Amino acid sequence: MAALYSIEEALSAILARVEPLPSERISLADASGRILAADAPATTDLPPFASSAMDGFAIRAADAPGSLTVVDRAAAGRPAGRVIAAGEAIEIATGAVVPEGADSVAPIEHVVEHDNTIDIGSSVAPGANVRPQGSDVRAGEVVLAAGCRLGTAQIGALAAAGLAYVLCTRRPNVSILGTGTELRKPGSKLGPGQIYESNGPMLETALRRVGAVVTRLEAVADDRDEHRGALERGLKADVLVTSGGVSVGAHDLVRNVERELGVEEVFWGVAVRPGKPLAFGIRGTTLVFGLPGNPVSSLVGCALFVAPALAALQGATAPGPSYSVGMLAAPLRQSENRDDFVRATSTLTADGILLRPVSGQESHMIVRAAGADALVHVPRGTGELAGGSRVRYLRLD
Ligand code: AMP
Ligand code: MG
Repeated sequence: MAALYSIEEALSAILARVEPLPSERISLADASGRILAADAPATTDLPPFASSAMDGFAIRAADAPGSLTVVDRAAAGRPAGRVIAAGEAIEIATGAVVPEGADSVAPIEHVVEHDNTIDIGSSVAPGANVRPQGSDVRAGEVVLAAGCRLGTAQIGALAAAGLAYVLCTRRPNVSILGTGTELRKPGSKLGPGQIYESNGPMLETALRRVGAVVTRLEAVADDRDEHRGALERGLKADVLVTSGGVSVGAHDLVRNVERELGVEEVFWGVAVRPGKPLAFGIRGTTLVFGLPGNPVSSLVGCALFVAPALAALQGATAPGPSYSVGMLAAPLRQSENRDDFVRATSTLTADGILLRPVSGQESHMIVRAAGADALVHVPRGTGELAGGSRVRYLRLD
């Protein structure tokens, strides 16, 4: 294997080859998880009018404390009925228009009402409990910028600002192909030497979560013709992700057949464990990832490289992967020549997030990995990271 790329070099080599996909207009109802392709401006001031933050009485602050005459009752959803004069109050509901002349709202809890009169015992600050027009955003101002991922609050903000449709980058089509003569579908009976194909379902889950439209191809045996047919199909997608068959064994055919099919290999081999024999190439505009077959290697390679590439294809400004910081519960030895990603559980303690490596760190141990919720990054080095030291980690979903 030629000189290995560091994880940083590998990621930049990948991102350098990513062109964001074209955009499309979609309804807000379909926009969850999508990435904005253009700034989204508000269609209205928000709030669109000065509104009450409380149930209470709209007044002139100068009139409190004192006794005021209740001259009207204002519910939400109706225009303000009349103007307030000195000594007058209008009963007002949360969200109703603050009438002209009023500059504040006395909360109902602070008021005694009798015979169309209210007594306010204390002073009220000008502006109290009034939400000024446009105090959240002004009409025409950017609610969310291009590159922003639309999560829960973002969808709420776009709706509040009056947007029924948004411009989002198209979702990438991703083909997933498992390779290996030993692979059988879960649910079928295993013959001698066979194992269940787990990378396909796992990668489909991971990549759907980052916006991919996934086509899973039937896993192929370690046979050139089978590889050629399936890879050719997979190369029609925006992204092809294979697993297995990218190592140095006689049966590892993926890179070889891809080369025959015109895939330009950008790199092969990353100084990372698990996941070293990872390949990345490109044909036309199709990005081609060859993940190693061991399930935990596939999991890590996907999190480190494929998921960020998909985010970048969708125009994300920060494609990730996004690290958090935690504290090691136990010392971890560094590897001299490569970065390690250690499966761990994360627990919130008074001192912050505590990361405890799970037992069973071998790259075939997907069941052990499933008991973890964090991938701890152990940078290469000749020493060890002491217990209690601060480390970066990736959250597993
Ligand atoms: P390979 O990278 O093809 O040498 O595969 C490495 C290890 O991962 C072998 O033990 C394979 O049986 C296993 N493996 C390969 N592909 C898959 C898959 N799709 N699901 C589960 N295990 C796999
Ligand atoms: Mg194999």
